[in-house]
Amino acid sequence: MEKRTEELLNNLEEKLKFFSQLGIEFISSSSPAKEPSYLSLKEKILHCQKCPLAQGRKNAVPGEGNLETELMFIGEAPGRDEDIQGRPFVGKAGQLLTKIITAMKFKREDVYITNIVKCRPPDNRNPHREEIKKCSGYLLEQLEMIKPRVIVTLGKVAADFFVRSTLGMTALRGNFYEFGDIQVMPTFHPSYLIRNEGNREIRKMVWEDMQKVMAFLGKK
Ligand code: URA
Repeated sequence: MEKRTEELLNNLEEKLKFFSQLGIEFISSSSPAKEPSYLSLKEKILHCQKCPLAQGRKNAVPGEGNLETELMFIGEAPGRDEDIQGRPFVGKAGQLLTKIITAMKFKREDVYITNIVKCRPPDNRNPHREEIKKCSGYLLEQLEMIKPRVIVTLGKVAADFFVRSTLGMTALRGNFYEFGDIQVMPTFHPSYLIRNEGNREIRKMVWEDMQKVMAFLGKK
């Protein structure tokens, strides 16, 4: 092993960066007990043929992060960049999500990030009800395994999965909803923030929502 590589591997912070630069998913080493079942779930997702989205994908995108986390972020479906890389939230919206996570005093690798459906819908359309239904078992297994205290849902599709309501995003966001033992905080999707870049009000609302999550998790 090269000296530089050895030095990198000796330092956990550097190690995380090194693996993520190589596009290799990091699974928390503090969760050895969960790893076998997580890896087998991941394999199932990677080879899933349950719905027609399988035909159009380059890669299924199971999710990534810390299996021992208290905090999960859930979007709707992989986009183009995610489909290519097989990792969630790695495009423009993902970069903004990473900034939000950092502003919350977490590191991206401290939390777990995934989507309601694990394969990219054509032209980034919303996933159909039937596709969500077929894919939902994977998400429920992830929740059962990770047992987060809080889920932040990003956008309407993800909010609708957890919260039965006819309300729109503006009315839904900013409040906690119970999903079993988990507190769900719906907020706007980072892509919506990007599309409305000049709108400070939307940014302010997302930050208020995240501050509620931080307060719940004891982050000052
Ligand atoms: N949008 C999502 O909802 N999920 C991703 O992974 C990327 C963009």
